[in-house]
Amino acid sequence: MKDLAKRAILASGALRLISPGATAAILMYHSVMPEPAAHSDSLGGIIHSESEFRAQMELLARDYHPVSLNEVVDGLNSQKDLPSRSVVVTFDDGYTDNSEVAMPILNQLGIPAAFYVTVDCVEQRKLPWPSRLRFAFRKTKLRAWVDSRGAAWQLDDSDSRERAYLVSCDDCCQLSGKVQEDFVRSVEEQVQAAVPGDLSSLIMSYDQIRSLAQHGHIVGSHTMTHPNMAYIPEQDAKAELAESKQRLERELKVTIRHFSYPCPAMTPHWNEKTVAQSRSVGYDSAVTTNGGVTRCGDNPLSLKRIRPTKTAEGLRWNLECAFAGRAV
Ligand SMILES: [Zn+2]
Repeated sequence: MKDLAKRAILASGALRLISPGATAAILMYHSVMPEPAAHSDSLGGIIHSESEFRAQMELLARDYHPVSLNEVVDGLNSQKDLPSRSVVVTFDDGYTDNSEVAMPILNQLGIPAAFYVTVDCVEQRKLPWPSRLRFAFRKTKLRAWVDSRGAAWQLDDSDSRERAYLVSCDDCCQLSGKVQEDFVRSVEEQVQAAVPGDLSSLIMSYDQIRSLAQHGHIVGSHTMTHPNMAYIPEQDAKAELAESKQRLERELKVTIRHFSYPCPAMTPHWNEKTVAQSRSVGYDSAVTTNGGVTRCGDNPLSLKRIRPTKTAEGLRWNLECAFAGRAV
């Protein structure tokens, strides 16, 4: 729909009239940087510019009801009504800019947020594997790559490189732990390209994560090694859930109640088995990347989220459509 038409619908308030019942919108951010283009070869399109993010947070503070994830989850568990037009801000992966760029804006505006960190990446000082593979396929000087099944993929232009990258993601998302690390390194060796070591500073340290918690924000787990939880063996999925929770609790001295499912490639990225596992490991909530709002009666262990577009007006459209029960 054209921007002008969207603006007219928003101004009329028509979407608010069809808003069905109390709902909460959980927004999914990743990275906030002053210059997103500087790191698009590793992080891709998941970076919001600092100015866009500030404008979006000012919109939330002014026209919506930013609440803590705990408030929504506790409301679901006690079957209380959610605050009207409430919005939760969440971040996946654990990028350094979350504490250095996003947190000062959130603190200034009094917006509580939840930060889900990839624990092995924090401890090993490395980017999540999708960023490493993206960088390798974008930067390689080679013209072809052969996958693990022996199929050859051309690397002539950006489209063919993207196709090869996506094939590698389909393989890698089904691996976790050391086997996953071995796979990423073998691709980096094959294509003779790898992220420079200094990009490890893009991932938060435990000190930076502790500072989020000390400022009243929630820290949650985004697994140890960022696999697709629905495609790895059951015992590996349980280890990703349990070990990341234990390590964060040991480092932060707080109970880790919340989990976020990685969605690196393939669908689905969670299922009934992973929901049961997350419950048995002791999580109170888990967010997915399935689109939509949270309503009373929803299962807190498979919460929907909304991917915010990059502008404040775009976010307003996302939210009004979502609250009105329309696809975003
Ligand atoms: Zn992620």
